[in-house]
Amino acid sequence: MVKKIHKNRSHGSLPSIVIVGANFAGLKAALSLPQKFRVTVVDPRPWFEFSPNIHELVSGLKTPDLLRLPKKAIIKHAGHAFIPEAVTTIMPEKNTIVTNSGKRLSYDYCLLAIGGQTNMHRVKGAGTHAMPFKTVSHCQAIGDRLKQFSGKNKSVSIIIVGGGFEGVEALGEILRKYKDKKAIQVHMIEKRGRMMNDAPGDMDKELRRLCSPYPVVFHNGIHVTRVWKHSVVLSNNTRIPSQITIWTGGNIPPALLFESGLSASMEQWTPVNAGLQHVTYPNIFVAGDAAGTPEPVSKQAYHALDMGKTAAENISRHHSGKSLTAFQPSSKPMLVSFGDLDAFLIYNKTVFAGVALNLLKEAVFQLTMNTMDPSGFLLKAYHASGRLGSSALTMASFLSFTPKSLKKLGGIRIIGK
Ligand SMILES: Cc1cc2nc3c(=O)[nH]c(=O)nc-3n(C[C@H](O)[C@H](O)[C@H](O)COP(=O)(O)OP(=O)(O)OC[C@H]3O[C@@H](n4cnc5c(N)ncnc54)[C@H](O)[C@@H]3O)c2cc1C
Repeated sequence: MVKKIHKNRSHGSLPSIVIVGANFAGLKAALSLPQKFRVTVVDPRPWFEFSPNIHELVSGLKTPDLLRLPKKAIIKHAGHAFIPEAVTTIMPEKNTIVTNSGKRLSYDYCLLAIGGQTNMHRVKGAGTHAMPFKTVSHCQAIGDRLKQFSGKNKSVSIIIVGGGFEGVEALGEILRKYKDKKAIQVHMIEKRGRMMNDAPGDMDKELRRLCSPYPVVFHNGIHVTRVWKHSVVLSNNTRIPSQITIWTGGNIPPALLFESGLSASMEQWTPVNAGLQHVTYPNIFVAGDAAGTPEPVSKQAYHALDMGKTAAENISRHHSGKSLTAFQPSSKPMLVSFGDLDAFLIYNKTVFAGVALNLLKEAVFQLTMNTMDPSGFLLKAYHASGRLGSSALTMASFLSFTPKSLKKLGGIRIIGK
């Protein structure tokens, strides 16, 4: 039921912008928008969460507070308003959104940054019995469950569904903490032929080599057809017992996009032009994972941050009658950690490997957390020592790396085909 109408459309000279979703893309957009707009940010989650490092909650290397920042304070500091609710309907023809409590907000511009959602509801039983791997609370729950089972001195079978970078990072953290526990067996299930199938170099071979001393079983070219409370059924009709099933397989467009008429099917990311403007509605901009750009880009946090900034700037440009700036995806490397056993840096067609690369991933984490809290106030308040340690600053100098500079880290090797 509709409760309240928020008159958000322009009065006087202040155009209104509603940002739907505030993690990497949405929060970056909010930080980039000047107070000449009346900006309202709507997101049900109170915390900005640094998802690239949430796997570290599985082993307990990080705690939830280290990976989070309070959105309300950040948005308030930027001079904008925050509504901690989910948007349930977008009515592009009426320039209005509706939240779960029935609030209606009208807008001059809408910036959509709602990310993606897990695809676990497509396999029977997965939504009920598998544990998702997308947020801080998901990974904390996995860490707690592992701790609970490992204390029981009984044999434990853990299944990780998905052998992409998220599954690999989850496996690395399980091994970091439990590799000496003989009673714990891990099954990795990947429907494609190899683990890290999209990566260059033979990461599959390398991962199998690293795992050979431990009870890890790889199942490739097979998918999950049914998840039960204590087992998983595979497409070759094998049933594997499972006390913990971790679901890392895939990111799909949120249903809200199709339901609101902003995409043509449930499978399509919101179609935008090069300036991140919706192809049909010129006052709707889309940033981050939710955007279906003309040239597809990987669903990565660094692209989401850059898109948030570009979309915010393009709203300003559009409002002043200027042409839009095209979003230019940066060619940053991808960092994948593998617990305390290894880490990988994937850049163009090359995979560099070495545990020292974990420090680089930590530096990216610390630098990004600082970017999201420009005042520095929150980090100091929440983490007494401040976040950016001197080692991270030193490491940060490698962020504009060249293969030559990586060698300085020591112990770096190249994984061939
Ligand atoms: C386990 C894991 C590891 C990853 N590792 C890396 C990595 O190493 N490097 C890297 O670059 N990227 C990594 N990624 C990808 C990265 O996290 C995403 O690309 C990034 O989060 C996308 O940012 P976003 O702002 O578009 O969406 P999200 O970060 O998903 O944020 C979407 C926001 O929208 C909100 N929202 C959703 N629906 C609604 C609604 N209806 N109403 C209002 N608000 C809504 C959500 O609450 C959330 O705050 C990883 C992702 C995962 C899950």
